[in-house]
Amino acid sequence: MSHQTAYVGRFAPSPTGPLHAGSIVAALASWLDARAHHGRWLVRIEDIDTPREQPGAAESILQTLRQLGLVWDDSPSWQSQRLEAYGTALKSLVSKGLAYPCTCTRSEIADSQRSVMPGGSSASTQSVRGVEHPYPGTCRDGLRPGRTARSWRLRLPDPAIVQFNDRWQGWQQQDVANEVGDFVLQRADGLFAYQLAVVVDDSAQGITDVIRGADLLGSTARQRLLGRALGLADLRYMHVPVVLAEDGEKLSKQNGAIAVDTRHPVKVLNQAFGHLGFGPSAESSLDGWLADATRRWAELRSA
Ligand code: GLU
Ligand code: ZN
Repeated sequence: MSHQTAYVGRFAPSPTGPLHAGSIVAALASWLDARAHHGRWLVRIEDIDTPREQPGAAESILQTLRQLGLVWDDSPSWQSQRLEAYGTALKSLVSKGLAYPCTCTRSEIADSQRSVMPGGSSASTQSVRGVEHPYPGTCRDGLRPGRTARSWRLRLPDPAIVQFNDRWQGWQQQDVANEVGDFVLQRADGLFAYQLAVVVDDSAQGITDVIRGADLLGSTARQRLLGRALGLADLRYMHVPVVLAEDGEKLSKQNGAIAVDTRHPVKVLNQAFGHLGFGPSAESSLDGWLADATRRWAELRSA
């Protein structure tokens, strides 16, 4: 009997729209890796960011996975049914002094950054869409008088430098204190943050290997620190290249990502496989294609 933990992988889509060419690449890589390791593969619907959700998207995603033959083990889990577990995890961090309430608004954090940067506003401090300002730790030592808590943040260890070997991207290092700061676990609107939910669920589902798009590479150090604060085991990671739209941005509904045409599953799969660096398979049946791709993945990528 092997002493290694049995492989458990997962695909964790947010139901913000149908699966597109980009999300298929992540799903396929994760599925192939699980099958190549004779492991289990789970699907988790990350439906806690309710304002971003699209009705029917979750069902459409599951349907597309089925049509592509990317069959999962167990029944899919839904983050919207796991709020109690996220609350419990947050409470345990608070009781250990590892999470604290924060009253800062986004613009206060941006302003405090500008005031500490020589010369005022620089490229990295401008409010560019999608660029987050590192949290300066304003509320670390207690709330300012007269202010009420808006969100909850993780108290980072000092130093908070995380290193890990990504199976696709290679050696990674991030100084989370400098680049991100104490990050949000529960948002001002009461919703639990993606970072907390993902760490709690990966652990609860016994996940050993996370394979996902490289757009999430920058979240991994935060997740590892959070996992350690919660006393959880480290996971292995592989961040596969994201599919870019013609404008060079990550493929999304906004820049024309279209739902995949599942009338031709093998064609869709060959395209995703090509994006992962593999030439097309000559197999024309779905089962044959998946078996061939699993063999080829195992040879090249499963180490
Ligand atoms: N739900 C996230 C997304 O769709 C992915 C989470 C993960 O794989 O860790 O972008
Ligand atoms: Zn604050």
